[in-house]
Amino acid sequence: MPPRPTYALALAGVVRRYSEGESALEILRGVDLAISQGQSVALVAPSGSGKSTLLHIAGLLEHSDEGEVFIAGRPTARLADAERTRIRRQHIGFIYQFHHLLGEFSALENVAMPQMIRGLSHKEANARAKDLLTYLGLAARLTHRPSELSGGEQQRVAIARALANAPRLLLADEPTGNLDPKTSDHVFGALTELVQATGVAALIATHNLELAGRMDRRVTLRDGKLVELA
Ligand code: ADP
Ligand code: MG
Repeated sequence: MPPRPTYALALAGVVRRYSEGESALEILRGVDLAISQGQSVALVAPSGSGKSTLLHIAGLLEHSDEGEVFIAGRPTARLADAERTRIRRQHIGFIYQFHHLLGEFSALENVAMPQMIRGLSHKEANARAKDLLTYLGLAARLTHRPSELSGGEQQRVAIARALANAPRLLLADEPTGNLDPKTSDHVFGALTELVQATGVAALIATHNLELAGRMDRRVTLRDGKLVELA
């Protein structure tokens, strides 16, 4: 069935290979996936199976070698880099395993800045950043820099930053993989709550089966293909 415009994200026949000396290593061997608006999907698969590669391709951070990536129904594989960047900024929020916050800026600035890049006024961007950070329990941490925050707090700032632009699609690469179990639970709870509250479509790579159980669907990667789990 061809992807329909209503899918926030659709992948069709995505292939990715890395060259290894003379030979090519095929990591993704024809990945198909469709995520409706508002649907959350957990990607549960062993290390080295291609989760990060898949998320980078879905987030238009990397090209596939074959296949197509549809964002909000629009094919992206053949677009110029500038247009791919525009779509990424407009429609996609990304949470990395390590937070990638800007060290010299406050929590508030880290969340507000991407919105200003997208054209929001300083005042509006700050107001939205403050709302989101407050929702995530960080009202007393707005002016702190990342180095003055705990790991769990840093990751909550990263969640706020990824959702600040009200993206259609949220991609998260082991967002709590770097945290102790208790903090991980707390951060994942905040993340799932926000996913539900905002109606964003989400694809979240995680090793935590209990947390994956809170998503609408679970998928895995097997021999380079995506397989739906019960
Ligand atoms: P996961 O996130 O599931 O751990 P990755 O997508 O990071 O998996 O990697 C999948 C496989 O692709 C691994 O074997 C990794 O070594 C390989 N790989 C990833 N990126 C590159 C690259 N830039 N060059 C060569 N091999 C890579
Ligand atoms: Mg990875």
